[in-house]
Amino acid sequence: MSIERVRENVYAITDGSTRGNVCAYVLPTQIVFVDSGMHIPLMKKFREYIEKETGKKASTLFITHEHGDHVFGNQIFEDCEIITSESTNKAMVEALENNWTPENLEEWKKNAEDSTALEGLKIVMPTKTFAEEYELTDGEVKVIVRRTGGHTEGSSYVYCPQYKVLFAGDNLFNHSFPWGGTPTANPLKWIRALQEYLYLSINIEHYIPGHGSISGTEPLEEFLEYLNKVITLMKDMIAEGKTEEEILKQADEIEYYPPRREEWKDLTLKKWYDVLSN
Ligand SMILES: [Zn+2]
Repeated sequence: MSIERVRENVYAITDGSTRGNVCAYVLPTQIVFVDSGMHIPLMKKFREYIEKETGKKASTLFITHEHGDHVFGNQIFEDCEIITSESTNKAMVEALENNWTPENLEEWKKNAEDSTALEGLKIVMPTKTFAEEYELTDGEVKVIVRRTGGHTEGSSYVYCPQYKVLFAGDNLFNHSFPWGGTPTANPLKWIRALQEYLYLSINIEHYIPGHGSISGTEPLEEFLEYLNKVITLMKDMIAEGKTEEEILKQADEIEYYPPRREEWKDLTLKKWYDVLSN
C-alpha cells in the first residue's frame, strides 16, 4: 500500500491495494474519510497513519456508493458518523438481505487476492443519509457531497472547494473502461455527473476516481466524449429501427480503453442500450 499525499490536508490510496480508491480530507478539527475500500487491515493502517500524522481524529466516513470494494472497510469507522445517499443506503439494505449473505461473504473472502483482506469482515451500515446533497462545515472548510447517479442510482461525489479536490467514486474509472452494468446504472445521469465535475473544474486541481490514478480534467473529457459518442450512436440507431444486435455491435467498435474485467464492456453497453431504448 502506498499512501499518497495529494496535497496539504488530502491523502489517498489509489494503487489498487484497497481495490476501490479511498481518501481522507484533514479539516481544521477532524478527519473526514471517503469510501472504505475492500482491505480491512490496510484501511485500519490508513486511518491510524493519518490520525498519527495530523494529531486529529476521524469523525466521518462518506460512502460514494454501495459496491463491496467501496464499503467493506466500514468497520474501521464504526465509531464515526457514516453518511451516504438514501439510494445508496437502500441498495445496501437490499444487498444485506440478498447478496451479502454469510455464504456469499465467505466467497468474497476466499476470492480476495490477499487472504487477510477481509478477515473478520462485518457489514457496517450507514448511520445517516441525505437525499441529494450534504454539507459538512469545519471552520473555513466545506466538504460537499452530491448525489448524481450514473454508475449507480445513489452514486455521489465528495468535493472540497478549499482543498480543490473532488472524489468522484465509480463515475470515473481513469484510463479504463467503466463498469456500468449494475441494475441502476444510467448513462444519461452519468453524462450529467461528468459535466458537473467539469463545471466545477475552476475550483478543482485533483480528481480522484473510484479506480485508477488521480488526474486533472483530461480523463473526464476523454470519457465524456466517449460516452457521448456511444449514446448518440445508440439513440440514432434506435430511431432508425435497428436491432439490438446491430446497435451493440456498432457501439462495441467505438474505441476506448479496455475494461479491467473482460465481461464488463458487453454488459455495460447492454445496460446503456436498455436504458436508452426504454
Ligand atoms: Zn462501483
